[in-house]
Amino acid sequence: MKRCHTITIKFKKIPNEELCNIAKQKSGVKGARIISPSNVVTAPWVRLKCQFGCDGYGQCLVCPPFTPTPEQMRKVLDSYNRSIIMHFDPETDVKSTVADLEREIFLRGAWKAFGLGAGPCCFCKNCPVKNGQCKHPERARPAMEACGIDVFSTVKKAGFPIEVVRIRRQCPNYYGLVLVD
Ligand code: SF4
Repeated sequence: MKRCHTITIKFKKIPNEELCNIAKQKSGVKGARIISPSNVVTAPWVRLKCQFGCDGYGQCLVCPPFTPTPEQMRKVLDSYNRSIIMHFDPETDVKSTVADLEREIFLRGAWKAFGLGAGPCCFCKNCPVKNGQCKHPERARPAMEACGIDVFSTVKKAGFPIEVVRIRRQCPNYYGLVLVD
């Protein structure tokens, strides 16, 4: 019979500079900043943009109506003191990268770490929305906007660039957020 051994590991809070460095080392991350989750803006209208006008509504388990409402998300954000916002190259798999960063800082002792990406989930051809069982729970994370976060206001507040995309050849700006502790 296998026996468990008691292992004591002492964690210390990850310093802000180290957090930014860990994030910036991830492929496709152009910039990273620590922000207070109180500066992450939520708004009731964000849900409308998902519900009316987005063909991804209800199509995957990390999109509304399966995700927290703006009001629920506000409470989640207010239960954290630090978060890290990242600016991505347009070609990057934002969701995988935030899940990866979430795991890395979790293993360094930030037990509350949780990542939020951008856009719908494309890991599976068909998302089993009817049975509610995600096939890749280790890396499927909701987009910020799917949880009622006003990404434009949040990003501008953090001092990063973002513009309304008006034409197809215009390069969009993508962002991810990891709630830390
Ligand atoms: S990983 Fe697959 S099952 Fe999970 S939310 Fe994304 S598409 Fe759906």
